[in-house]
Amino acid sequence: MEVIIPCWNCQTDTKVVDFRCSICNKIQNIRKTNPYDIFNLKQCYLIDNEELEIKYFQLQNIFHPDKFINSAEKEKEISAYESSNINNAYNLLLNNVDRIKILLKLKGYKANPNNEESFTDKDLLEEIMELQNRCMSIENENEKVKIKTEIIEKIRIIELEINSNFEKEKIPEIKNLSVKLSYLEKIKKNLN
Ligand SMILES: [Zn+2]
Repeated sequence: MEVIIPCWNCQTDTKVVDFRCSICNKIQNIRKTNPYDIFNLKQCYLIDNEELEIKYFQLQNIFHPDKFINSAEKEKEISAYESSNINNAYNLLLNNVDRIKILLKLKGYKANPNNEESFTDKDLLEEIMELQNRCMSIENENEKVKIKTEIIEKIRIIELEINSNFEKEKIPEIKNLSVKLSYLEKIKKNLN
């Protein structure tokens, strides 16, 4: 990837290839604020995890602090900062609920405040409570596997719905589904 930006070391606009100044070769900041841009991914809800992983390793390979042990202080600083930035962005994108919040923000909408995951839908509340009750009364490994498979399938379907609602910019629907999704993710996590 090639861009023209001011190099912190050369103090002028220089060509930067793969985050290194083409004149002095010093490492440069990524200069991207949202996780999708950091990995150069299309801003869609459903992402290709394999593509994300490849890009994650490519970036970590460039910025990993181990590669800057004998470098200038400023380079060590950039490497530490960007390396943790890359990790955060990667974990956020892998999280099905966080990805909704990121996309809503990118599109200029407010996400659900974190503690306000309340149910407006009674059927949904009942469905989740029933599932929670079943999880609490699991008696053997077979039952556990069965419920887990069910939850994974429910999550898969919700993700498809959320994706299609993002394409149609149906924001209230996305917010409702995100409440359901976050509960299902919690139940799934507790099952592990
Ligand atoms: Zn330079």
